[in-house]
Amino acid sequence: MKVLTDISLKPYNTFKTDAIASTFIIIEHEDETRKLNHYTTRDKYLILSGGSNTLFKGNFKGVILHPVFKGIGIVGEKDNNVLVKVSSGEIWDSFVGYCVENNFGGVENLSLIPGYCGAAPVQNIGAFGVEVKDILEEICAVNIETGEVITLRNEDCNFGYRTSIFKNQLKNSWMIVSATYRLTIKNHLCKTTYAGLQNELQDKDTLSPAGIRNAVINIRQKKLPSTEVYGNAGSFFKNPVITTEQATILKKEYEDIPLFPVDDYNVKTAAGWLIEKCGWKGKKYKTAGVYEKQALVLINYSGNTSDDVLELALKIEESVSKSFGIQLEREVIVI
Ligand code: NAP
Repeated sequence: MKVLTDISLKPYNTFKTDAIASTFIIIEHEDETRKLNHYTTRDKYLILSGGSNTLFKGNFKGVILHPVFKGIGIVGEKDNNVLVKVSSGEIWDSFVGYCVENNFGGVENLSLIPGYCGAAPVQNIGAFGVEVKDILEEICAVNIETGEVITLRNEDCNFGYRTSIFKNQLKNSWMIVSATYRLTIKNHLCKTTYAGLQNELQDKDTLSPAGIRNAVINIRQKKLPSTEVYGNAGSFFKNPVITTEQATILKKEYEDIPLFPVDDYNVKTAAGWLIEKCGWKGKKYKTAGVYEKQALVLINYSGNTSDDVLELALKIEESVSKSFGIQLEREVIVI
């Protein structure tokens, strides 16, 4: 365990905000997660993994817990599936790469999502029709105030659209130390329902985990900015879920509005489309901006504070609310 004081969080968040943390603890071994009470019972604390979904609006006066312990391994087989356990400090895309190299199927649609494995189940990351909840078997978590260890089955995690029990009842006090995924070893299901993915796969004999991973990587590299180049956190907003009645009214006015059924009463629409329709795509606002190829992504050009990103987010929320009567919800967590 390394305990650092008064350090800049700039290398630890993908918006590259230069906020200062009073205490920053790098957790290098899993067993150290059970010995954190000295810090967590004294001060305000926050678990920070890859910092790819967090926007710091100021300095953090408290303790930041940064787990980096690694490990990926097969822990069992079940029917046609293999069970792969991954530690929280692994980079998510390295885990996806490991699975695809071994021809384990189910996780390939989630290629190139930034962040660490410990954070993936917290917000039930999803892309191209697959979410963590579809493949997760169980989670091992530790209470960072008491050291208690628990195992949660998939059904215990209360997964929803970009949410889980770790964003609600177990928020902050429990740290995920590892997650076990159930992946296919043959007869892969290969989910290709998204038009963008189908188009990328066209003319290619690529219906395999490796083929889908390549296609997803190509799409993401074309449409999303690298965090190495621009401070950003991928999708800033969630896709709004609206009632079928509201969707019917909007469809009459906007024939091309994307609508995807959720259940008998609700429909999902695309936040990126709403933002683009309001004229924000590619626009700059002070030292912030909306990415020119994907309106869901906000950019921090300043590399210091994130004040302008927050102001821009508010302006976008106002525009969308005024034009469509839809209140956008943020995927990014503001601290
Ligand atoms: P897109 O194809 O332009 O579609 C816009 C939105 O419509 C998507 O966000 C997606 O919702 C929804 N959608 C499209 N086809 C759908 C279908 N067949 N069934 C249900 N919903 C559908 O999307 P895109 O911007 O290129 O993104 C492609 C995928 O990458 C999406 O799944 C998106 O969530 C994901 N992505 C993730 C991040 C991130 O930071 N985590 C950033 C950008 C994109 P969903 O988002 O609910 O899938």
